[in-house]
Amino acid sequence: MKIFEEIESEVQSYARAFPRVFNRAQGEFLYDEDGNQYLDFLAGAGTLNYGHNNPLFKEKLLEYIQADGITHGLDLHTRAKGEFLEAFNEKILKPRSLDYVVQFTGPTGTNAVEAALKLARNIKGRENIVAFTNGFHGVSLGALAATGNAHHRGASGVSLNGTTRMPYDGYLGEDFDTTAYLDKVLSDSSSGVDAPAAVIVETVQGEGGINAASFEWLRNLEAVCRKHDMLLIVDDIQAGCGRTGTYFSFEEVGIKPDIVTMSKSLGGYGLPFAVVLIKPDLDQWKPGEHNGTFRGNNFAFVTARAAIDHYWSDDAFSKEIKRKGHYVSQRLESIVANYGDGNFTTCGRGMFQGINCVNGELAGAITRKAFKHGMIVETSGAEDHVVKFLCPLIISDESLKKGLDIVEQAIRETCAGEERIPEAVDYFEELRKTA
Ligand SMILES: *Cc1c(COP(=O)(O)O)cnc(C)c1O
Repeated sequence: MKIFEEIESEVQSYARAFPRVFNRAQGEFLYDEDGNQYLDFLAGAGTLNYGHNNPLFKEKLLEYIQADGITHGLDLHTRAKGEFLEAFNEKILKPRSLDYVVQFTGPTGTNAVEAALKLARNIKGRENIVAFTNGFHGVSLGALAATGNAHHRGASGVSLNGTTRMPYDGYLGEDFDTTAYLDKVLSDSSSGVDAPAAVIVETVQGEGGINAASFEWLRNLEAVCRKHDMLLIVDDIQAGCGRTGTYFSFEEVGIKPDIVTMSKSLGGYGLPFAVVLIKPDLDQWKPGEHNGTFRGNNFAFVTARAAIDHYWSDDAFSKEIKRKGHYVSQRLESIVANYGDGNFTTCGRGMFQGINCVNGELAGAITRKAFKHGMIVETSGAEDHVVKFLCPLIISDESLKKGLDIVEQAIRETCAGEERIPEAVDYFEELRKTA
């Protein structure tokens, strides 16, 4: 279709990597106009944990629409919203002994982050927020100030203020606990780092290259927050909703964030929806201080509730994710052992894993090959050097195997054998020389 070249803005990104016109999707599959099937290992950048057009949620949504249920409700109390809150409270919060109130924000992740940062600053009466290297928190100005990526930051056109960048876990090597550095600068009145209101962190950095913080580092980070009277904000927008194997990515870590942001797979069906979870004593908002016309997307409340009822009433789904995640780990370990000349490494946890190819051109060549073989998979990280696997969590074992087979084939074709791309060979030779 020519219309895209004719009038769609140059700002498009994913559409460049996958230049087809898609018109249908189901489960882990996307279809283009010509009827070609693609295995979707991008899944709306982590928005489709329950697959495309999940039939269970579709049925609930169709029923709701048929009965003239409320579509748009500002922040009015609606039955759909009440039922979502009940399910979230009974099946998500209470079984995990988590005590949070729920703030409905505008339906994007970045808006939830804006709200979280505002609230933290107002509570503590301080401007500074600690954010981490390679963190991604969205692209509106407040959230963008906490985001690391220079390409995104560069578009702002104004100075991005109010944050201090600190090294994430592993940034200075495996043996260096960067929370000790954070503690040190906050303990030193001449470090030049202003006392922060809060720390915002992803337990596994999605856009930043599937970097998984160790549980110990996260626990130390929480301790530093308590010591220096800062709030701990976990941005669970991509890592949450089961991606790492548990509903919240921090559950098994044993930390209790003060504030949690959620979006992406929260709505379940791919419908826009975002919330901020706030410890009750920190819910110091005044009525309407942060609002948003679309904070009452009732369709998303219906499908979000269906997702909780169906997948999170017991721990069966969580076990399934962990089983599949274990399989992914094994396959990726074997791939990096066989290809990449010892330079590739695996990263992430649960169903939130990737292969660090060190080099962005190489990772891009691999995802392009995979696309030729019928698979949609993207890269992430500062140099787009990590091939990231974000397939729907409900993917069948057969499709999961097929996807990893395709990746393995794409890597083999790119890095080894007759068809290997010359850049890969040059690159490895260069690495060997510098070693
Ligand atoms: C995607 C994402 C955001 C931003 O969400 P949008 O809906 O794109 O605004 C924020 N934080 C994290 C961790 C994300 O992955």
